[in-house]
Amino acid sequence: MALKSIGLQVPNLLRDIVETGIVFLYPAKCRVCAAFLEVTPVPYICADCWHDIQFVAPPWCDICGTPDVRGLCDECATDPPRYGKLRSIAFYQTTLQHAIHLFKFEKKQAFGRHLIHLINAHIPIDCCIADYDFILPVPIHKKRLRERGFNQATLLAKGVVQTKGVPVLTDALVRHRHTVAQSSLGMEARQHNIIDAFEIPNPEVIRNKRLLIVDDVFTTGATIREAVNELWKADPAEVDVLTLARTLDA
Ligand SMILES: [Zn+2]
Ligand SMILES: [Zn+2]
Repeated sequence: MALKSIGLQVPNLLRDIVETGIVFLYPAKCRVCAAFLEVTPVPYICADCWHDIQFVAPPWCDICGTPDVRGLCDECATDPPRYGKLRSIAFYQTTLQHAIHLFKFEKKQAFGRHLIHLINAHIPIDCCIADYDFILPVPIHKKRLRERGFNQATLLAKGVVQTKGVPVLTDALVRHRHTVAQSSLGMEARQHNIIDAFEIPNPEVIRNKRLLIVDDVFTTGATIREAVNELWKADPAEVDVLTLARTLDA
């Protein structure tokens, strides 16, 4: 707590004593397990919980990335999705759920750099970012952008490409229809909710280009499916997907 910010001119020593007292009286606790925070690799979450994040590891379905599959899963073998491949970094379990919630809904944007580090440290070997012409964050509607102040997928995408030099296009795919939050709906309702939510204002920008869509969480796949279907109307050369998290049953 910075006393300076409320305009008090307190000598440094006194301020240190007061701040130490506040931390002593109200020590921060881990958002996941409620243990008192000591030295942690990230704010808000203890080291044990942070190191408990489960990363997606091969083998996985060549197309949809479902773990514990060699070649193609039954679904991709019979009715393949329209993306070339989808890869995710880690499972959407307790710690990552809390971490994404902090970042996305509690608007702790600075926390995003820890999530970006997580992605960059675990990019799947068959997902070479530099091979793409453009990175496209899954867009949110401008009304939600106003409410939240940022698009979490855009921040993640920009962090992922920062050393790769691949342009992030935030206006190639836009969400022109405001929808209720997908997370509040069941599987069937999600598919219905997201229909015709996207549009491509300038199809020629992405024609014959290799595209990588980036999003925070892959759940039922309804949003990704709709976005990919819309993108193919512009005849890109390739559409792949990278998400930070995927649910266990996705
Ligand atoms: Zn913890
Ligand atoms: Zn599959």
